[in-house]
Amino acid sequence: MASEQQTVADDESRFLISDLCTMLESYLEQEQIQEVYRAYLFGAEAHEGQHRLSGEPYIYHPIEAARILGELGMDHKSIIAAILHDVIEDTGIAKDQIEAEFGNEVAELVDGVSKLTQIEFASQAEAQAENFRKMILAMVRDIRVILVKLADRLHNMRTLDVIRPDKRRRIARETLEIYAPIANRLGINSLRVELEDLGFSALYPLRYKVLEKAVREARGHRKEVLKKIETSIKRRMRQEKLAGRILSREKHLYSLYRKIRDKTLSFDDIYDVYAFRIVVDRVDTCYRALGVMHNLYKPVPGKFKDYIAIPKANGYQSLHTILFGPYGVPIEVQIRTEEMDKVAESGVAAHWLYKSGDASMDQMHAGAREWLRELLEMQKHAGNPVEFLENVKIDLFPDAVYVFTPAGEIMKLPHGATLVDFAYAVHTDVGNTCIAAKVDRQLVPLRTRLLNGQTVEIVTAEGAHPSPAWLSFVVSAKARSNIRHYQKNLKQEDAVGLGRRMLDRALGAFDADADSISRKQLSALLKEYSLRSFDDLLVEVGMGRRPAVLVARYLVPADQTGIEAGQGEAVMRPLVIKGTEGLVTHFAKCCRPIPGDPVIGIITKGRGMVIHTETCRNLSEHKHPPENCLDVQWEPGVDEEFPVEISAVVADRRGMLATVAATIGDCDANIENVGIEERDGLTNTLMFTITVHNRKHLAEVMRRVRSIPSVIRIMRLRN
Ligand code: MN
Repeated sequence: MASEQQTVADDESRFLISDLCTMLESYLEQEQIQEVYRAYLFGAEAHEGQHRLSGEPYIYHPIEAARILGELGMDHKSIIAAILHDVIEDTGIAKDQIEAEFGNEVAELVDGVSKLTQIEFASQAEAQAENFRKMILAMVRDIRVILVKLADRLHNMRTLDVIRPDKRRRIARETLEIYAPIANRLGINSLRVELEDLGFSALYPLRYKVLEKAVREARGHRKEVLKKIETSIKRRMRQEKLAGRILSREKHLYSLYRKIRDKTLSFDDIYDVYAFRIVVDRVDTCYRALGVMHNLYKPVPGKFKDYIAIPKANGYQSLHTILFGPYGVPIEVQIRTEEMDKVAESGVAAHWLYKSGDASMDQMHAGAREWLRELLEMQKHAGNPVEFLENVKIDLFPDAVYVFTPAGEIMKLPHGATLVDFAYAVHTDVGNTCIAAKVDRQLVPLRTRLLNGQTVEIVTAEGAHPSPAWLSFVVSAKARSNIRHYQKNLKQEDAVGLGRRMLDRALGAFDADADSISRKQLSALLKEYSLRSFDDLLVEVGMGRRPAVLVARYLVPADQTGIEAGQGEAVMRPLVIKGTEGLVTHFAKCCRPIPGDPVIGIITKGRGMVIHTETCRNLSEHKHPPENCLDVQWEPGVDEEFPVEISAVVADRRGMLATVAATIGDCDANIENVGIEERDGLTNTLMFTITVHNRKHLAEVMRRVRSIPSVIRIMRLRN
């Protein structure tokens, strides 16, 4: 045993206290470093005889945590606290002993990251919540508490392999849900990125491996183009006598994964972007470099952002622009100074690095303080620590959406929030009586999901009521609980009234009303639904158990709906989409949905139902009342063929069209149409309309085509 530990300790890659001191020499005073060394002696003695699960002496862990803070350029008290961070929790040493040795600040920092060990908790969740609450309170007093905690967590994540699998997953999940978002909130990008990737790989090892492999392969394809762009940029910078570092950037795996998971973009859409960072000496050079870039490649209109003049809330500064690169590839460019780059990586930690009274630094720190104040408020209002932790998690959710009220007030909503969520966020009464909404002055369905920066206006009507159907799309707890509350308290007669109004509106879409319903049609429907009376049917509609629009469709004679089976180009596909029985279903030509795409059905007068993908740009232009938008789903196991358009940018070589077409054919996809567009003499764009069974099939086709050498990029076309 002893000899084994010896080998671990002798490992050349081991980071020792002497290495730490050498590293600190670059920015700390000699006395401060001596203080750090004294803390090491104190800690090593306290942890004497303790080992980590890996078998190595315990003290290596706090030294590694201190190293992480040293890399961020943190002050010596934070470094000392990192070295002593487990002393209170894991050894017999009390807080006042640390205070006597290293002063009050260090003692408070160490106490802040120490778990409560005296109290017995009923559950793991409760213990986690209470400890978290304690840490947040300590962090409000001194923000360095969270930096020490993040350093501790990062080293634990780096050494997670030796931990039992169930515990490993719990720690990984906690890292992704709490610590990485906190690092993000404080702008400490370097810690966030590593925490996220380590958490992702521990929680979803298989997905991590698949994505890592995909990135490795895509990287191979990109190499040539990347090199070419980089060389052009460097050459032009030299010609203009601008000095600076040019770095090509890649999205880290977890951010790729999150984008794919949330279905905002496909792997290729994300990975097809070429991203560069140019780091220069001064602000003035940033703007000159921007001019040079816009001269080298044409900028994409409307994409330039000046975060130097107007820094982000967390203090981030940079110029952002997007350019049309060679082969039609988009190039994202960030331009900033060395100092801005440091701030972008270190966030609030940069505060200790640059003690200058720099305005952006102060703003960043003020932003962090503001957030801590909000947390304190939240904790005062929370009923218990578990609720507090839940609220913090929601608050930290990195993909929040920020929208504006017509008065220009900013509202923050959870990712995926709809107009109904917005209405409830404004006020419960607004939510309860909303009937329509405008986004950027366009009338859109209430189920529309909000995007950053939109201006939202809610139209309310006196006497209007929440629709139970909203439950199928709202995401916020407030909207959900209010709609449920209304539904629970809905009396029979109210449900009849509500159902009647909803049905009337739906019938109106077919130019019909309750009086024009034929008795025969009604009794057939009641029989099919096993209901006794018309009132029972209205209750069903009012309670949201039957979509009003489908009921209306059954009740209106076919010749009046303007929908005829087999009319014109219409194709009957009753079995493809769930819940559309009896409706003629079309697939929108603009977005060409295929099985696997999230879809929405729009009931149109005269054309039955048109299926669009949820992300279709044309959806917002449909000025249909929200009750005409139906949540629809694909029938499982649909085996028909669906047309879809793809485009491939290929090198201008003889026989490329034939090669690509043959590959598509090999994948059992039919080609319905082909188009060629010459680009710049070097490349051509091939456009195909092909038929596939579903998304998986399409992905396979695209994967095979992409693997042909000389195919530079391939993508699915949507409008
Ligand atoms: Mn620790």
